[in-house]
Amino acid sequence: MHLAPHAADKVFRDRIFEMAARANAAKAERGARDVIDGSIGILLDDQGEPAMLPAVEEATRRLAVKEVATYAPTAGLASFREDAPAYALGETIDRAPTGCVATAGATGALRLCIWNMLEQDDAFVTHDFFWSPYGAIAKDAMRRLETFPTYLSDHSFNVAGAVEKTAETLHRQGRALLIVNTPCHNPTGIDLSAAEARALRDGLVALAEAHPDKPITLFIDAAYWEFGDEAANQALVEAFCDLPANLLFCMAYTLSKSFTRYGFRTGALIMRHRDAAFVEQLTKVMQTSVRSTWSNTCRLGQAIFSTVYRDPELLTCLREQQREFAAACNQKGSRFAADAKRLGVPLSPYRYGFFATIPSNESEALAERMTADHMYFIPMKKGVRLAFCSIPARQIDGLAEKIARCL
Ligand code: PLP
Repeated sequence: MHLAPHAADKVFRDRIFEMAARANAAKAERGARDVIDGSIGILLDDQGEPAMLPAVEEATRRLAVKEVATYAPTAGLASFREDAPAYALGETIDRAPTGCVATAGATGALRLCIWNMLEQDDAFVTHDFFWSPYGAIAKDAMRRLETFPTYLSDHSFNVAGAVEKTAETLHRQGRALLIVNTPCHNPTGIDLSAAEARALRDGLVALAEAHPDKPITLFIDAAYWEFGDEAANQALVEAFCDLPANLLFCMAYTLSKSFTRYGFRTGALIMRHRDAAFVEQLTKVMQTSVRSTWSNTCRLGQAIFSTVYRDPELLTCLREQQREFAAACNQKGSRFAADAKRLGVPLSPYRYGFFATIPSNESEALAERMTADHMYFIPMKKGVRLAFCSIPARQIDGLAEKIARCL
């Protein structure tokens, strides 16, 4: 009765935290060695402890409490707003006017775009395998989500499907927002190769040029930026430099996985457009949304980022450590993918990253059968998600065999 109609049926069952709790209970009962916990997207070391980047700890030690305890400006610290886009966009930073607002992680950046780029009841477009909170954000913002098949039978990213679905919503709504999670797509491990990024650019530019009065926004959810292929990342940002006036490029960067600071809730919404005055306007709009939701973004996270970025030695250390972390995680994924292929276990087109998915239209039942065998993975709409990032390397051996027995 008290809840407004739009809020009354708003329930998001968080399967990830639910399954992680069941895995923890099983570990407490049986011992961690006998339980395979691939539930949560946090990088753990082989002792099962969160893997922490030493360069980030060093940067934290250098900051005085008084420097980080006060409020940050609503749009973010000036240093962070300069450094985060420079870091993410690399050599392309000067190729087009760029704005940045500090956000509550990548989630905050997603929320700002879904809210501000669409009208009520409009749909944004994304791949049919997607991080489930996309649906919760859509619901909470009174928007909708429409999908295209993530990958094709040859395991390439479905660029044509993405453009086609974007065109469909553009014609219907007069505006379109396409969200693509790359690199290291959660939950399949696919990502946009350099050639696929260029094909996406060509498709969206053609669409934009055919409808110059209708705005299109491409939002790259780069929550796993350092875990993929660095050359492909650069090719991606390079592809989206010189765009028509009705095509806006946005990107979410976050310290959650990139700096192993999941709980700091610090990220950035990076916005690039050919018109500097529009970038200024966009920044003010996003800043107002920040003020009206979480008010301002964690100062500590922003200060840590700039402390690392502005110290060449620390930045070099961080990049080396990130590469080690990425290699360790990706090796586990690739080993499992090779075993799965050998045994005929169906698997999404894993390239890099924290996750892969076993496609299934009975994912609830499959995930339950796996728990009976002390394996904890996430049932999703289109399959069961395995988080390699949190499985110790020794448990990868034989994992595909164990899973094959549950299929
Ligand atoms: N996008 C994807 C694809 C994710 O997997 C996650 C976190 O798991 C996020 C966004 C949210 O990131 P953050 O914790 O920075 O809000």
